[in-house]
Amino acid sequence: FLNGKRALVTGSTSGIGLAIARALRAEGAEVVLNGFGDEGAIAALKDELGAQHVDADLTTAAGCQALMDGAGPVDILVNNAGMQFVAPVEEFPVDRWDGIMALNLTAAFHTIRLAVPHMKQAGWGRIINTASAHSKVASPFKAAYNAAKHGLDGLTKTVALELAPYGITANCVSPGYVWTPLVENQIPDTMEARGLSRDQVINDVLLAKQATKKFVQPEEIGAVAVFLCRDEAQNVTGANWSVDGGWTAE
Ligand code: NAD
Repeated sequence: FLNGKRALVTGSTSGIGLAIARALRAEGAEVVLNGFGDEGAIAALKDELGAQHVDADLTTAAGCQALMDGAGPVDILVNNAGMQFVAPVEEFPVDRWDGIMALNLTAAFHTIRLAVPHMKQAGWGRIINTASAHSKVASPFKAAYNAAKHGLDGLTKTVALELAPYGITANCVSPGYVWTPLVENQIPDTMEARGLSRDQVINDVLLAKQATKKFVQPEEIGAVAVFLCRDEAQNVTGANWSVDGGWTAE
């Protein structure tokens, strides 16, 4: 049902973004990939998805502009690129704060402002932002991530209201813990910040939050993104849809 629609998914060379790109492609969308990775792996993804890849670092306004110039007009914009860093607030490296705010929040402002003119002209658009359970609740030692994701929720609600008259919806999808490199890579720092073993971090910190006691699979986020693109979802806007095993229900 997405034949003729062009979808840009940021951070789609890995994890959740890749699953969203695959899900949108399976429904017929033309996909534009973005994200880092080795050349061979990116070439294989381009082949698999018949996709274009735009190489751009989204931590700068210039990088976001280069992405949007390279991608051309898009009907579906998925702001998914993100990173994490775990440290006590008084030790939180300032450059990590700046980088996380730039990628996890400010990049979405840039891509949205640059994508909206085409969507308005087309009278149809979908903006889907990968937020997080941490856009609704906090965990210690994630000052920048939590602040950025709460901010992304606020940005999403704002543009949802502004763009509603134009057939454009804007929503967040908020995963709990999904087993991707982003989660795997934070385990050592969490072990150090909390003085725990690897198994304790997985079972007592990560899965402790999720009533289902299961990691979310990236494909489950792809399925929600597909639903948000349907005409039946035209009145779903400004929402922040949890896929978190019940974490934020508590
Ligand atoms: P991941 O590390 O597997 O993928 C991150 C993607 O972003 C990669 O494609 C990477 O190349 C790209 N990227 C990183 N820095 C970039 C930059 N400066 N410019 C452009 N692209 C860049 O991570 P993931 O777990 O798939 O996370 C995707 C999104 O989901 C993030 O926004 C993350 O905060 C969010 N999220 C993840 C989880 C989880 O448990 N994994 C939970 C909630 C929210």
